[in-house]
Amino acid sequence: MLIRAGRVIDVAGDRLADIRTGSDGKIVAVEPHLHGRPGEEVFEAGGLLVIPGGVDAHTHLNLPVGAARASDDFASGTIAAAIGGTTTVVDYVTAYRGEEPREALATWRRWAEPAAIDVGLHMTFTEAVSESTVVACIEQGVTSFKLYMAYPDSLQVDDGVILDVMQSAGRHGGLVTLHAENGSAIERLRRQAVSAGRSAVIEHARTRPAILEAEAITRAAALADVAGTPVYIVHVSSAPALAAVRLAQERGISMVAETCPQYLHLNEAVLLGPDGADFVCTPPLREAWHQEELWEGLARGTIHTVATDHCPFTTAERRAGIRGRPEGFADFTEIPGGLPGIETRLALVWEGVNHGRITIADWVRLCAEAPARTFGLWPTKGSLMVGADADVVVWDAAAEQPLTAGALHMRTDHSPYAGRIARGWPRLVLARGRVVSRDGIFCGQAGWGRYLPRSPRPGALG
Ligand code: MN
Repeated sequence: MLIRAGRVIDVAGDRLADIRTGSDGKIVAVEPHLHGRPGEEVFEAGGLLVIPGGVDAHTHLNLPVGAARASDDFASGTIAAAIGGTTTVVDYVTAYRGEEPREALATWRRWAEPAAIDVGLHMTFTEAVSESTVVACIEQGVTSFKLYMAYPDSLQVDDGVILDVMQSAGRHGGLVTLHAENGSAIERLRRQAVSAGRSAVIEHARTRPAILEAEAITRAAALADVAGTPVYIVHVSSAPALAAVRLAQERGISMVAETCPQYLHLNEAVLLGPDGADFVCTPPLREAWHQEELWEGLARGTIHTVATDHCPFTTAERRAGIRGRPEGFADFTEIPGGLPGIETRLALVWEGVNHGRITIADWVRLCAEAPARTFGLWPTKGSLMVGADADVVVWDAAAEQPLTAGALHMRTDHSPYAGRIARGWPRLVLARGRVVSRDGIFCGQAGWGRYLPRSPRPGALG
């Protein structure tokens, strides 16, 4: 295929060029004035942007959450991703307590088989593990390890385990990613709220104050410093958390930070509304003023990546809660947390370009290049270099896309952005050279996606 006369933007710059993709699914040429060959499809991209396919480094497809389960599986979720311009996801495997990480990995690999785009996997440990377990994961191309500083009943590990995994991952070129919230303090606040009869949805936010996110990030920075390893903080959601990231970086700690579109566009007031349960995610949505600071963090490079934490549910699943009560959840602690977002990430970050908060180059870096580099996929993913996978998005900055659930493809019946219209949407999306979406219509194939073994020793950005 020949994509002609687009404005091509990636790490190599911002220029008018043509892109030729080969039958091997790779990029074979990026230069001006290529001529079409017999049998070659030509896509005229004049007036459009041409960027590397998006890399979403934080998804939860098919994840069981109590009695509920994330409503997108790897087939439906990756189709929605492709339509929105994301051609690679890195999903989080969870090895629950008492479970063999290699068995959890095998389960996720099986779940991922119907994916329409390429899939890498992170591993989540929920208890202490041996160094040989870390090494076994890295040998299978799983080079990043998530640990939770929150959810003491099920997922949280203590600081000793965090230090231990940082050290063993660090020795073998792995990277630790952290859910940074002080889970033990939050658990107390949640119990206090419930026993005082404060059961409303807004209590989800009130019992998870931003200062306890900042505290955990500061602690994570200290542990990374002692371990002598980089660390990646998932879903930075608040101004105090951002300040903690900045302080760690100023002290010379290699801290890479991620935020998500929901923290850039939504605020906690929605939790007070009749559909408040549809907006429960963790960390919670914050007051509106935090958003400006997070955009600033993106523009300054304090935050390196934007991922989605995609974990959708249907309204009925949310109302039934994690205990699956037909009469509905008893209080805010029973609402399954997570928002849909895998399809709308590029468009919602692009809004920052529309509003002059970030540059077009920032947008490409945040959505594709930086996550690929951080997680050992560069330059095969996240770049348009000759020899890279032909994951290409042709972006129409003038296209208008309603963000209501009915106009999107994620398998859920509500949208956090309902009523908004995004300005900017993909016209054409290629995944390893194959057209997977054209004008918002999926034309790829379930199972086209491959498992992506990732390289150790990622070039950390912080
Ligand atoms: Mn998550």
